[in-house]
Amino acid sequence: MNIVFASAEVAPYSKAGGLADVAGSLPQALAPYVNSVQVLTPLYGQIDQKKYDIHATTSSGEVLLGDDVIPYSLYQATAADQSTQIGFIRCDRFFGRDGIYTESDGEGFADNNLRYFFFQLVVLDLISTGSIPADILHCNDHHTGLLPLMMKTMQLKVKSIFTIHNFLYHGHFSAEEIALLPGSTKPLLTITQWDNYSALLEGIDHSDIVTTVSPGYALELLAGLNVDQHSLTRIQAVKPNFSGIVNGIDTEYWSPERDQYTPFHFSIDDLDGKRKNKAALLTKAGLSPDMDAPLFGSISRLVENKGFPFINKLLDEFVDLGAKFIFLGSGSPEISDQLRKAGKRHPQHIAFDDGFNEPLAHLIEAGSDMFLMPSRFEPCGLNQLYSLRYGTIPIVHRTGGLGDTVDPWTPDSGTGFVFEPYDINELRKTMNLALKIYYSGSDWAALMQRAMSMDFSWDQSAKQYFRLYNL
Ligand code: ADP
Repeated sequence: MNIVFASAEVAPYSKAGGLADVAGSLPQALAPYVNSVQVLTPLYGQIDQKKYDIHATTSSGEVLLGDDVIPYSLYQATAADQSTQIGFIRCDRFFGRDGIYTESDGEGFADNNLRYFFFQLVVLDLISTGSIPADILHCNDHHTGLLPLMMKTMQLKVKSIFTIHNFLYHGHFSAEEIALLPGSTKPLLTITQWDNYSALLEGIDHSDIVTTVSPGYALELLAGLNVDQHSLTRIQAVKPNFSGIVNGIDTEYWSPERDQYTPFHFSIDDLDGKRKNKAALLTKAGLSPDMDAPLFGSISRLVENKGFPFINKLLDEFVDLGAKFIFLGSGSPEISDQLRKAGKRHPQHIAFDDGFNEPLAHLIEAGSDMFLMPSRFEPCGLNQLYSLRYGTIPIVHRTGGLGDTVDPWTPDSGTGFVFEPYDINELRKTMNLALKIYYSGSDWAALMQRAMSMDFSWDQSAKQYFRLYNL
């Protein structure tokens, strides 16, 4: 069985969010079960080709986008563990610039629809010409949502699977833009209630199998939570082929024992390094070196649904209780402004790093006591999984993958703190409970032990994907 895995982002080469983490680790976990796994992704200008030994291949071609014949060439690298090949599609007109989806000011590129139409046409070209052997095409999110439909119209004997990493982003396109796609796709496209088209919903309609990234999120989508009526009808139409598989994590890259970015290593049996990382993190963030103060970490895209409206309202009162906070994130100027102002009000207690910073993300996981992740909804969430592994106790809303992966604390069970319903007072109560247990000492130590002994490696989930490929 030959798998082609198409994704707009792949860690460590290009990353905006959790999609990259999955695309960078699931294919490797699948490799032992199949003949070959080939990942395909754009060659963005910001990717460090030297660092990852990304080199040109002899494969190249051209695709028709509307009336434009646009050439591409295929670059290739081997994954660090040698298990998979990563193919990078080079076309400087669309990808040879900094930024994956957005300008440096956070504004989406005006030609994003064209860029991902093009990407999909190239994937299709590589598969249909036999340049890349494919029995299964695994598509991810709206950037690849039109591929199952395009394959159908070409009657390719390739099975398609479409994974929804976040239902919020549809990749809407207009009736005029359809002219850029192969003519045969047009009669099969479905107009939405907004008078446009949704690449995400097309992926759901036309792929052989649809998955999302946790069983809890699958149930929420099928129940219509945060889903409009039009989309719900289309999701429910594929219900028999729709399931949720929880994401795993790359346990080598996110390992407290071996983390390349943290100054001190530690394990469930020896937590000394965790305290040292906390001291290093406090110093790096410019916070007072009060080692006993509970330290909340947060690494997140700055968007409303990650819970920032609640967090912003609670910061002052928790600082008054002696807590410290470290935020790393980029996105909404309004949220970054609020966090910056909070940091100015409490320079010894609140630090905010505005940007994308991989090394700092690892240090926050390793050095914080708790991880704040009160997302309104969360398809799977990865940071709570990294947090559990690093003994950094997650505080989460019971939603989607957060509900599936964090067990609520009780005196002798549980791995984190879970609140519901989605209400600021519930979060306040839960943070207060977390502080109480933190100060209790022995209960906290037991909680850390339970959290760190959880297994979120890809193995189980990769097997579930493999079963679906075989259906
Ligand atoms: P989402 O995909 O909705 O952004 P996830 O929790 O699934 O949320 O995944 C987010 C991933 O992106 C995690 O690996 C997280 O550590 C990473 N991340 C998010 N923001 C930043 C940032 N500013 N700097 C470094 N890593 C970040």
